[in-house]
Amino acid sequence: MDQPCSECGDILKKKQISQEFEREGIKVRLSGLRAWVCNGCGEIYFLPGGAEKVAKAANSLFELALTEKQHKGTLTAQI
Ligand SMILES: [Zn+2]
Repeated sequence: MDQPCSECGDILKKKQISQEFEREGIKVRLSGLRAWVCNGCGEIYFLPGGAEKVAKAANSLFELALTEKQHKGTLTAQI
């Protein structure tokens, strides 16, 4: 990515990250996500369309967690 961070102007580096989401006491985690992370402030930038896909994946995990009644613990998806 050629653009600097829009928050602090520092450079962005491509990294694999993991994100945890919590809803109604259920936690899900997605790891191995590819995103650009600011070297300075840690702001995360997903590739175009990436944030939507991450949100969809998280929603699917929440549905799965509810179906499986895995209310305790964290449901993890590795990409
Ligand atoms: Zn920054």
